[in-house]
Amino acid sequence: MSHIIHRSLRRTPPVAVGGDGITIIDSKGNHYLDASGGAAVSSLGHGHPDVIDAMHAQIDRLAYAHTSFFTTDAAEELAARIAYDAPGDLDHVYLVSGGSEAMETALKLARQYFVESGEPQRRLFIARRQSYHGNTLGALALGGNAFRRKPYAPLLMDVTRVAPCYEYRDRQQDQSVFAYTAGLLAELEMAIIAAGPENVIGFCAEPVVGATGGAIPPTPGYFTGVRELCDKYGILFIADEVMCGMGRTGTLYAIEQENVLPDLVTLGKGLGAGYQPIGAVVARDAIVQRLRNGSGVFQHGHTYVGHPVAAAAALAVQRVIQRDCLLGAVTVRGATLRRMLRGAFGEHPHVGDIRGRGLLWALELVRDRETKEPFAPSLKLHEAVRAQAMACGLMVYPMGGTIDGERGDHILLAPPFIATDADLGEIVSRLQEALDTAL
Ligand code: PLP
Repeated sequence: MSHIIHRSLRRTPPVAVGGDGITIIDSKGNHYLDASGGAAVSSLGHGHPDVIDAMHAQIDRLAYAHTSFFTTDAAEELAARIAYDAPGDLDHVYLVSGGSEAMETALKLARQYFVESGEPQRRLFIARRQSYHGNTLGALALGGNAFRRKPYAPLLMDVTRVAPCYEYRDRQQDQSVFAYTAGLLAELEMAIIAAGPENVIGFCAEPVVGATGGAIPPTPGYFTGVRELCDKYGILFIADEVMCGMGRTGTLYAIEQENVLPDLVTLGKGLGAGYQPIGAVVARDAIVQRLRNGSGVFQHGHTYVGHPVAAAAALAVQRVIQRDCLLGAVTVRGATLRRMLRGAFGEHPHVGDIRGRGLLWALELVRDRETKEPFAPSLKLHEAVRAQAMACGLMVYPMGGTIDGERGDHILLAPPFIATDADLGEIVSRLQEALDTAL
């Protein structure tokens, strides 16, 4: 009996003992193709020698120094690199230990910005019904997953939620993409007006929706409209790139493909690619200058912010991505994966939609392709798919339909950027086998 409080309190998962390239090996010698990179984490696969060497070198020099006394070369170099690579004047970086911490930090930085701007009445965030921003109380309050929020509801701040950009289900057949997008933006504007723009801190969204919804890219012009509304009403736009950032969609930041500059961006997963727990908030100059010229401090901090070994790992990951031209590989391999998925599942009676960007893809599972009727949540289809996939030696990331009680199941794929065409072919064929058994 394990002493760990596992995700399931009823069963202990297999024990992972090794990893090599896109494969994870368990203690019984089973090999699993990592087609989901955990949950879009392992962008360089497992056991990458350059990252491991960089971590060793940093541990040999210095494993830890508290940031109230010191900074370190590793943290400074990583922050400089992130700032250099980020679009526009996203020049300031706060390093944390994961995605939820990055979100909490962004919420507090946004709030403090307005406090120091003489607008302490601003307290409201607007987010989307189909979103996941993390599991800590602030991030959980923002997220659209009602099932996850439910037990903690009395502890959570009020958040106004608006419709996601989810064409497959929400755009009417006779509606143009333009009209659909305009409707979403009108709803966001109404929400801002209803709350009173002077009370709103910011609007938060994932540029490409990840786990809660499944690899959903925005419609053209959606984020341009979001940026215009945020500017019109003087509120901040926070882009949560914890899942879709750091190259996962083919550009370093997913929002770059929308030609829009957010005020704050959160990073996680792909930043350290799983080699160390690390996340970051990247902030535009005006935000940090306001605090610098005001109180002179950001009233925040955790013991492990700017951890040097995590920073060294993330720096090595980012260097490999650039040196090996992996952003281009993501775009090319992403197109291959799309072709393979469409070939294998395009006519599948229970696959309603195949969507994604770069190497972030999802299949939406439906009972009926014509009506898009989802499977009943009580079937817990995502659990069956996960189990069958594991039995076929495949890791995918299936999720149930738990977005405010609506919507269907989907399977998320986020293979490492180093996957070859042959790897992708094997992933798709094992997924076919798993779905044939599970459905
Ligand atoms: N934001 C998004 C978009 C995510 O996908 C996740 C995790 O899945 C988080 C935030 C939270 O990150 P973490 O699990 O590292 O706390």
